[in-house]
Amino acid sequence: MLDSGRVQAPVLGIDLGGTKILAAVVDQEHRVVGRAKNPTPAQEGEQALRAALEATALEAIEAAGLQPGDLLGCGVGSPGPLDLERGIILRSPNLNVKDFPLGPGLSERLGVPVRVWNDVRVGGYGEFRLGAGRGFEDLLVAFIGTGIGGCVIVAGRMVLGMTGNAGEIGHVVVKAAGPRCGCGQRGCLEAVASRTAMVKRIAKAAGRGEPTVLGDHFEGRTQRRVKSKELAAAYFDRDPVVVREVDRAARFLGLGLASLINVLDPQRVIVGGGVVEALGESYLAIVRDAARPHILADSDTVSRIVPSGLGDDAGVLGAALLARETFAPATVRDAAGVSTE
Ligand SMILES: [Zn+2]
Repeated sequence: MLDSGRVQAPVLGIDLGGTKILAAVVDQEHRVVGRAKNPTPAQEGEQALRAALEATALEAIEAAGLQPGDLLGCGVGSPGPLDLERGIILRSPNLNVKDFPLGPGLSERLGVPVRVWNDVRVGGYGEFRLGAGRGFEDLLVAFIGTGIGGCVIVAGRMVLGMTGNAGEIGHVVVKAAGPRCGCGQRGCLEAVASRTAMVKRIAKAAGRGEPTVLGDHFEGRTQRRVKSKELAAAYFDRDPVVVREVDRAARFLGLGLASLINVLDPQRVIVGGGVVEALGESYLAIVRDAARPHILADSDTVSRIVPSGLGDDAGVLGAALLARETFAPATVRDAAGVSTE
């Protein structure tokens, strides 16, 4: 049994992404008391990934002035598909691993229990409990970045669906016979509104000779990744190609969200992720304008489309909260809804 002092111990939340690993030590009041951030060695294989995860975790713990043994436990949000019971990444093309023992490896190194959940749901749970969804029970959360992920919360519970795959809003079809999506189909929201989709079209325009400040990213055989911040800088400089493509993507997001609003009628639609953090209100205004005519109920509903409240911390705070609810059962509210996929 955990004694009460232990139950109040800090927890570690880790957000494992395709480009960066964020770790935060979080106290009982959900305050970050130590943090660390490192690039994800996404192509170097298992050893490098394991080393980077451990180093980032230990840096955050040290920044908090603690030892690993001071922690109640650790929660990790990870891309999947995952074996949630065993804490294993079954495969992830973005991380170049297969059957990677994420939870067991960290648990062995830190000497504390570790739980692993789907990254999008961890971020969505953070927003629901601690961010822009605080105080609401019916939410749609969408994260826009390399891809588009989301989750649905109804009556205060994460909707998992029969197969555990509910919330895949990135694959709502918004353009029949549209561009090819990573899932193999055509015209998905992700294929027209993610950062990847925007950058593809900007690269095509640059290839046709349209001048854009991002043009040098696409020269030569290997294309350099365009970060959300670079995209936003070009947007705010009114680069014509970038403005056209970002606005187009935002309008498609608005169409997709309007359809989902008609189905779910949520109290809030929370939009987060790298693209939204970088582009902010001017992007969200276009999303709302595109959604408005398609909403059957009161069109003022579009004002319910709001930016993420936690920004880049949604993942680490959500992971930390889930860890606390899992390892200090006295404080459990409804972690079970998320802990079984
Ligand atoms: Zn798709």
